[in-house]
Amino acid sequence: MKFCPNCGKDVIKGTFCKECRPPPEIRIKDIKIKLCSDCRSYFYKNQWEKYSDLKNSIKRYVHNKLEHKLNDFEIEVILPKINKKPGKETEFEIKVNKNEVYFLLPAKLIFTRCERCTRRKFGYSEGMLQLRNPRKEIIDFIQSKVKKNRDFSIVEKNPVKAGLNIKFNSKKLLFKLGQELEKRFGGTLKTSSSLTGLNTETSKKFYTLSVYYEPYKFSKGDVIKTDKKLIQVTKPGKQVYGKDLILDRSVSIDLKNKDYEIKKKYKTRVSKVHPEIEVLDPETYQSVEVENKADVKPGEKVKVVLDKGRMYLLD
Ligand SMILES: [Zn+2]
Ligand SMILES: [Zn+2]
Repeated sequence: MKFCPNCGKDVIKGTFCKECRPPPEIRIKDIKIKLCSDCRSYFYKNQWEKYSDLKNSIKRYVHNKLEHKLNDFEIEVILPKINKKPGKETEFEIKVNKNEVYFLLPAKLIFTRCERCTRRKFGYSEGMLQLRNPRKEIIDFIQSKVKKNRDFSIVEKNPVKAGLNIKFNSKKLLFKLGQELEKRFGGTLKTSSSLTGLNTETSKKFYTLSVYYEPYKFSKGDVIKTDKKLIQVTKPGKQVYGKDLILDRSVSIDLKNKDYEIKKKYKTRVSKVHPEIEVLDPETYQSVEVENKADVKPGEKVKVVLDKGRMYLLD
């Protein structure tokens, strides 16, 4: 036989004895409040919300649950000691004062982890970066971004034939990372989103983000040939900055959908500076005139590129 939590009399049906049974407007079934074990948030109106004062949040929860929105009662929350471990439950009582008549409602706190803490703890991945032909500076760049932002983390890294597949915890930050990679190093960036599941708690759909990124195969100091231009790159990126070696001036170009060729660089020495600068042809060892000007001394080690039989000095 159960007994009434209010007066101790035997109870035949329900929680309270006949006398203590709360009036219908404050009879609330199943007051079960989900709390996160790791952070101060509770599940309220179908989503996780932060709280600063637990008792106030419980009151808010109860008010929201009341079928009749009456204002003629007061709620007091009586909390025992709480064990916040995930999976633990704490039973407690809510004291309702309606016109100086008190009712005790049984309630429960259920500890679990909110979505955010689950992700943080178990490394749930929201998106994947398919990184192809990465250089060390690109991997370093990604790692520095993750290091700087505590909300951004790598969940899993898998080497594949042409690079790396990296899973991240946040699709928002992964999207931003893709943009930053393209801006900084240039190359091919493709993003797509796909439906991967349903959150049973909130019925929200889950989309994961796929980002494909392949940087240009050249970096700072390399010489590329595109549109009959010979450009020594000073800053690769979405917009490539460099020096046009033929016209001897600064240029910036957009390589999107353009073909380019990376020129081989040769090491050689300056053989003459008067009347024109000459270097030793790295293949024939003949002294040949270079096409462009530079501040060099005889015997100095220099780098050159060859294009259509012409020699260009590099910075
Ligand atoms: Zn009773
Ligand atoms: Zn949490």
